[in-house]
Amino acid sequence: MPLIAIAQNRRMSDYVESVRRAGGEPIEVGADGESPEHILARVDGIMLTGGGDVDPKLYGEARHATFDPAESGRDAFEIALTKAAVASGIPYFAICRGMQLLNVAMGGSLIQDIPSQVPGALPHAVPEPRFAIAHEVWVSKGSRLSALLADHMEDGETCHVNSRHHQSVQRVANGFDVTATSPDGVIEAMEQPGDGFCVAVQWHPENFWRTGEFRSLFEGLVQAANARTR
Ligand code: MN
Repeated sequence: MPLIAIAQNRRMSDYVESVRRAGGEPIEVGADGESPEHILARVDGIMLTGGGDVDPKLYGEARHATFDPAESGRDAFEIALTKAAVASGIPYFAICRGMQLLNVAMGGSLIQDIPSQVPGALPHAVPEPRFAIAHEVWVSKGSRLSALLADHMEDGETCHVNSRHHQSVQRVANGFDVTATSPDGVIEAMEQPGDGFCVAVQWHPENFWRTGEFRSLFEGLVQAANARTR
């Protein structure tokens, strides 16, 4: 069974359950544990999770008034893990903060506060229930994300998602494609094109493990991890 390293956050249970249901064996990794190099030497896939804001100094900006930091040490640990993971080609799946972190680690920037910086923005912070549908996203045809979600989209390109974020990707890191946007233009998914599995979504697919709407995303990660020889 492929070992999937999941970046620690304050609420792990849905991530852990989603990986288990997709056939992976989850292990939690964080700033107080092993180095990224040791982690990459013994796992088959990486999953980055939700949480607080990435420090904007990491993409060269001052802090917006709404800045809500992640746990101490997470930014540095996760950026080191992400850079090493992308360089190694290990299957990598990033969720919410994880997608923002991936973009910053690879040289991109973020919109720091959607409500005050995106005119006409849809509600992207719908807290409860955690699987509540907040808005639709338009998925790019031909993307890996589109293939993974093929059985879940009614018309081949529209998908309804939950949403708990006040930040989003602004300048997309070099080498990445935007693979989903919401109707207000907010970037909702990105991936690295090519044979590797490097996929990121802005919504929270892990909150749907009971009903399985997004199980194919976790299965995609686990299958790619299973196919890779360490
Ligand atoms: Mn959203």
